[in-house]
Amino acid sequence: MTSTLAARTGPGEELHTGGSADVRARVCVPSVLILLATMVVVSVGVAALSGGGQLASTLASGWAVLAAPLVVGTVGTLLVCERRWPAQRREAVERGLIHDAWFLVVHLASVIPLMTLMSVGFSHLLDDVLGGSWRSWSDAFPSWTLSMVTLVLMDAGNWLAHWCDHRFGALWRMHALHHSQEELNVLTSFRAHPLSHFMGFFLATIPVVVVMGDRPFAPLLITVYVCLGTLPHANVPWSFGPVGRILVSPAYHRIHHSSEGVSGVNLGIVLTLWDVGSRRARFPQRGEVAPLTGIAGRPLVTEQSDRATSHLVLVVDQLVEPFRRLGPP
Ligand SMILES: [Zn+2]
Ligand SMILES: [Zn+2]
Repeated sequence: MTSTLAARTGPGEELHTGGSADVRARVCVPSVLILLATMVVVSVGVAALSGGGQLASTLASGWAVLAAPLVVGTVGTLLVCERRWPAQRREAVERGLIHDAWFLVVHLASVIPLMTLMSVGFSHLLDDVLGGSWRSWSDAFPSWTLSMVTLVLMDAGNWLAHWCDHRFGALWRMHALHHSQEELNVLTSFRAHPLSHFMGFFLATIPVVVVMGDRPFAPLLITVYVCLGTLPHANVPWSFGPVGRILVSPAYHRIHHSSEGVSGVNLGIVLTLWDVGSRRARFPQRGEVAPLTGIAGRPLVTEQSDRATSHLVLVVDQLVEPFRRLGPP
């Protein structure tokens, strides 16, 4: 495994690894704190579910919602569309796609249970903080109205978490893995460090608890949201025409992944309105060539690098990378 990795901490900044022999001096403390905070929230979720004998059933419903047949069908369809209408022409089965398939395995095996337990953990913690008396405020509204409002607010929370990912170095260390893909494809949606979801789930759980209260949130809406968030990574040139001014399209999100030009734009997950409101929206222009993706200068070892080893070894290395302390340039 390489130990000469570096990560960009923000627009225009780069830090490089030091060569200290002291193991403790090599550990990135903020990443360890994010790990510990995630473990605390997950353990709250496990304790809450274990007490009611609901741990297994809740984990099963997490897989049923986040890896639903609709999600599998959407990913499968987009894999075919990428071959038929590629935004960027490549080999039939490129190395980036195979590598992201490994992250899909990680996602199914560990990230989905982690997401499920984090949702439960954050819900319980927020419930404890807020108490129960505030819940009746939404009783007069129909559930479907509250569900739609919640979904929009969740998207706002995810946008804010994404902004934080690009603003703060400790969070960027986790998020950089997602941006390191130079052969953007639909499976890149699953190329994310498991700990990169902490901030997003915290901010997205707030509207669920505050708006929905004790009411069940329609699982189908979450599944549709996952599909809409997966679609923009596909290697297709679609901009969605006028709809693309509201919904994040593949062409729009590709600009966010661009290795050239302005960084920190097009942060939206499903809706563009948060980018428009913060003047961070860069809509694709007609006839525009699909930009190259990845991180300029390739500060992280990727599967396209000459230094890349086997997919499995590289996946482990990329998951460990945020825990390495960065030294002075
Ligand atoms: Zn990003
Ligand atoms: Zn992305």
